[in-house]
Amino acid sequence: MPRDPRYDILFEPVKIGPKIARNRFYQVPHCNGMGHQHPSSLAAMRGVKAEGGWAVVSTEEVELHYSSDLSPFNEGRLWDDADIPYHSRVVEKIHEHGSLAAIELVYSSFHSINNYSREAPLSAICRPNDSYDPTYSHAMNKADIKAFRQWHRDAALRAKRCGYDLIYVYCGHNLTLQSHFLSRRYNDRTDEYGGSLENRVRLLRETLQDTLEAVGDTCAVPIRFAVDELLGSEGLSCENEARDVVEMLAEMPDLWDVNIADWDNDSQTSRFAESGYQEPFISFVKKITSKPVVGVGRYTSPDAMVKLIKSGVMDMIGAARPSIADPFLPKKIEEGRVEDIRECIGCNMCVVGDHQAVPMRCTQNPTMGEEWRRDWHPEKIAKKTSDSRILIVGAGPTGMEAAMALGQRGYEVMLAEATKELGGRVRHESRLPSLIQWGRVRDYREYQIRQLSNVEIYLDNQLAADDILTLDANHVAIATGSPWRRDGRGREHHHDIPGLDSNAIYTPDDIMQGATLTGDVLVYDDEHYYMGGVLAEKLCQDGANVTLVTPATDVSTFTHNSLEQHRIQKQLIEMGVTIITTHSIASVAADSVTLACTYTSREQQIAAQSVVLVTAMLPETAVFDALQSHSEQWADAGIKTVDCIGDAYAPGTIAAAVWSGHRYAREMDTENVTGVPFKRELIRLSSN
Ligand code: ADP
Ligand code: SF4
Repeated sequence: MPRDPRYDILFEPVKIGPKIARNRFYQVPHCNGMGHQHPSSLAAMRGVKAEGGWAVVSTEEVELHYSSDLSPFNEGRLWDDADIPYHSRVVEKIHEHGSLAAIELVYSSFHSINNYSREAPLSAICRPNDSYDPTYSHAMNKADIKAFRQWHRDAALRAKRCGYDLIYVYCGHNLTLQSHFLSRRYNDRTDEYGGSLENRVRLLRETLQDTLEAVGDTCAVPIRFAVDELLGSEGLSCENEARDVVEMLAEMPDLWDVNIADWDNDSQTSRFAESGYQEPFISFVKKITSKPVVGVGRYTSPDAMVKLIKSGVMDMIGAARPSIADPFLPKKIEEGRVEDIRECIGCNMCVVGDHQAVPMRCTQNPTMGEEWRRDWHPEKIAKKTSDSRILIVGAGPTGMEAAMALGQRGYEVMLAEATKELGGRVRHESRLPSLIQWGRVRDYREYQIRQLSNVEIYLDNQLAADDILTLDANHVAIATGSPWRRDGRGREHHHDIPGLDSNAIYTPDDIMQGATLTGDVLVYDDEHYYMGGVLAEKLCQDGANVTLVTPATDVSTFTHNSLEQHRIQKQLIEMGVTIITTHSIASVAADSVTLACTYTSREQQIAAQSVVLVTAMLPETAVFDALQSHSEQWADAGIKTVDCIGDAYAPGTIAAAVWSGHRYAREMDTENVTGVPFKRELIRLSSN
């Protein structure tokens, strides 16, 4: 299909200092959990982005000196020349596809703990680390400032030798030395680097100058700058000093990459922010500078992108998450295939990977992080190697992904679903408060499947083992999901919770399928991701008097990893939900529940006419088990394999379900691998 001419503007080249970007799509720096530990995975992932049409592909934050060591997190590292080959490989992969490679140099100041290097980090003032770690930073004197400037300059020159086209000065996210010098909160110095804004901006200005002098002849030097910290007069804001900084430095950098700080404001999930949420904060920048401006806001719609360019908000469309969910987003717009875009759902499962210091995964894009180690490409999949017919039982995210990917391989696929709609858990969960965008997991796959004439969908078809034996399938995948438990078992309770018969007990499935509760409702969250918190929110909205009880020390505690925890807890408090942490349920009675303190076992009783148990899911394996017990009939039925996949195999995240379905499709008709089924980046033994 030819490109829609309305989108031509997105494919205009943009001059960035001495470089030309071939279009307006700009993958801004983003962490990924690969960093210096998984360089081949990293290079392949960045290369795929370039192949997908992003004119600029950036690294994650790259430590410019060993005294800014973010271990155990896997960020980039350019401490000395020994790191150059890793970066050269990244640059090579990006250049292979005609894109520009950008590097984000970082000095993390008191944000880094330096667990590995054991150096005290340098910062504007002596201060405890910003996590609950007993590390302090060292207040920089003039000699330290001089040394830092030299380190930054050396790192920029090294980056140029790696082949990078754009070399960032990073002053964002409330995470870098320059941003800490700029901040009144972190800088009460009395020398020429403290006090007035002119003084506090000095180090940033000097770093920019140094970098421009060192590499600006051939490389572009962008600045990444947070124009608002959402702290009102306590912090930098587009209404006050941040605007002044943009005015002071307006024409110095070759590009302004602007956002809001800190990271959890910049990368807000769809549960808390709409696409485009940063626009009101950043839109002033273009009025002040003549240099290109890049901004982000989880943009996936080309119409919204065109509007941003035409209305003068930005010159290039920045993206981290939309480029993770669909590395080929620009290409799809260019080729007139807008409906094929796999839109980011704003869940931050990608961020979870970085937080857990492992290569990131993505709910929408199961190939993310697998480009090198499993050779999975987001847009290419091997053609079928047999004429097998495949039956998928269950059309949740697992079954839909498996059916789609097998269909794309060319197999004949039957997708059977017990209910009248596709989507499984995603259909229900996307109806919960603020999770509507999660429906994109279903929408994308449904559209793709409906384009494939070799995939048949059978709705309203609850299959039993006997049915399956008559369906002429050669391979059967059971993707029947995992309903929530009704007995309270989970992390805390190894046996049924006593007294459940005496009260009205509900599971998340009941609530999602329409049960409405009134009066005193106790939500017991021993699962700790989003479900407990989101159900408390829903029930409260429905008018119940909700108490959320959890054995953890805070609500939805896993969501620290997705940058949402503080927002969830704040929202529930403001809605009037009573929160009781570090307690589990001791027993349930009519109209009341007895709680026990997880430390002391001391008990308290609270009123509850209904109890919602968010403890654990249990795989639905009845069909799988029945087929296994009839395995002697498989050969006559033409069945070669029966597999249990996704939540029916082991419950987990939607990302894990999609990945499982994808893996099933990729591995159809391949040899069984013995040993580790993916490549590993092995550490080379030092010769001394
Ligand atoms: P997953 O996350 O692994 O995809 P889900 O729970 O989202 O799991 O989806 C499982 C789907 O399987 C649901 O839509 C459910 O209706 C369907 N299902 C369960 N049992 C059967 C069955 N026997 N026949 C057909 N569909 C089934
Ligand atoms: Fe978007 Fe979620 Fe994928 Fe991250 S994990 S890119 S937020 S869909």
